[in-house]
Amino acid sequence: MALPLFDDAGATRESLYINGKWGPGASGETFEVTDPASGAVLSSVAAAGPGDVRAAIDAADAAFEQWAGATAYARSAYLYQAHRLMLERADDLATLMTMEQGKPLKAARTEVKYAADFLIWFAEEAKRVYGSTIPSARADQRFMVLRQPVGVVAAVTPWNYPVSMITRKVAPAFAAGCPVVLKPAEHTPLTAMAVFKIFDDVGLPPGVANLVTTADPAVFSDEVFASRAVRKIAFTGSTAVGKMLAREAASTVKRVSLELGGHAPFIVFEDADPVHAAKGASLVKFLNTGQACISPNRIFVHRSLYEVFLETLVTRARTLKAGNGLDATSGVGPLIDEKAVLRMQRQVDDARARGARVLTGGHRLIGTGFDGGFFYSPTVLADVTAAMDIYREETFGPIAAVTVFDDEAEVVAMANDTDYGLASYLYTRDLSRALRVSERLRFGMVGINDINPTSAAAPFGGIKESGLGREGAAEGLGEYLDTKLIGISI
Ligand code: NAD
Repeated sequence: MALPLFDDAGATRESLYINGKWGPGASGETFEVTDPASGAVLSSVAAAGPGDVRAAIDAADAAFEQWAGATAYARSAYLYQAHRLMLERADDLATLMTMEQGKPLKAARTEVKYAADFLIWFAEEAKRVYGSTIPSARADQRFMVLRQPVGVVAAVTPWNYPVSMITRKVAPAFAAGCPVVLKPAEHTPLTAMAVFKIFDDVGLPPGVANLVTTADPAVFSDEVFASRAVRKIAFTGSTAVGKMLAREAASTVKRVSLELGGHAPFIVFEDADPVHAAKGASLVKFLNTGQACISPNRIFVHRSLYEVFLETLVTRARTLKAGNGLDATSGVGPLIDEKAVLRMQRQVDDARARGARVLTGGHRLIGTGFDGGFFYSPTVLADVTAAMDIYREETFGPIAAVTVFDDEAEVVAMANDTDYGLASYLYTRDLSRALRVSERLRFGMVGINDINPTSAAAPFGGIKESGLGREGAAEGLGEYLDTKLIGISI
């Protein structure tokens, strides 16, 4: 099948977008992009070298002053146009995403819409970067506070949400007046190219948006760490890589915002509707084949509802049809690679050996329709305990791990017993309990009877080892702004 949005296969080799021009890397080297549903090679893209990364940073640095000096209305206009083009190309973008990332087409379309939301939300917010004045203790003095763009931004994005993780960074950066050099995940460079084609087509000034593809992320980060021009790193990915970036960024005191891993608790109290809660758990657990940072990793169910909850969850998991995301009947796509399949099997084997019951799934999917792909059956584990790997490690796959509990204080302590702190969920019909528990959960986000507490207008992010800073909302724009105080004697 031909790649949507690319005129010919050769076009993908010119995957570096530097200073307003598409081109290959200086070395001419490339790396392959594959389809996780079949293992088939989709195309090859340029493997950037250190010189290419430096050229992109230099272009961004050269563009900074003019971009920062443009009016907020001018910057906003580019974002409005990018929003319009993204929606116009939504079907092609979604198809391309499904081909290289695997998620079902319907989910890919939803992601494109979510990604476009960030473009329009920050197009609007660009015009609201307000400063302030502060009264002085001296009658002859005035204080004025300005908010100014931080400078060149290096952005690194993951493969699981290959469009929205880009717009969630790039839109507020552009709105604030920052040029960007972005490195997408090695699994999903094509979708990133399609997004940057939009920036090219809306006529962004050269150097404002720069894209660098590579299969060796250190080539990118080493140049970023060494650069004095790069003033901020915006990252979404694993906690291990995020910690390394934060450590290295310290040598030139760059700002960092980190959206890292999660280990979300999903609590079902005794006064909840267990069927409704199980349907919610199934939807959010198997979304994107479980490859979401807000995916519930520990599902805690009150003893009185345990069996009925499990029964509904198992029924829902069994009705999910795994398959190629391009097939409209597929409800769950492949995992991203072989390593992910092996991690699923290791976590299931470990849980089973330590006493968990495998109620459905628990194995790789093979045979017709699955050949060459990385499919794993939607799985439900019951009687999961703190002794099992899955209770501590991020799963990032389609395994629902369910644990029984008896009282509120006990379950809050269990939920908080993790180094992660991204999303959390609770189901209850008791308003007092909902608020009491929400306040005690040590997580950046809480869904109360709600499985999708996300929006371009709402601050997304984690605490503890799940990250620093927020994306989306006014907070998301603040990540790209410095505060400057001006004191004036009159
Ligand atoms: P990863 O950390 O391996 O990769 C993420 C990105 O970092 C990729 O672009 C990768 O190339 C890059 N990277 C890896 N090593 C690097 C290095 N040395 N220097 C610079 N860049 C480097 O993570 P992944 O497996 O691709 O993504 C899954 C992780 O992302 C999960 O932990 C998930 O929870 C997290 N995630 C978090 C959020 C959030 O908003 N908090 C959203 C999506 C995913």
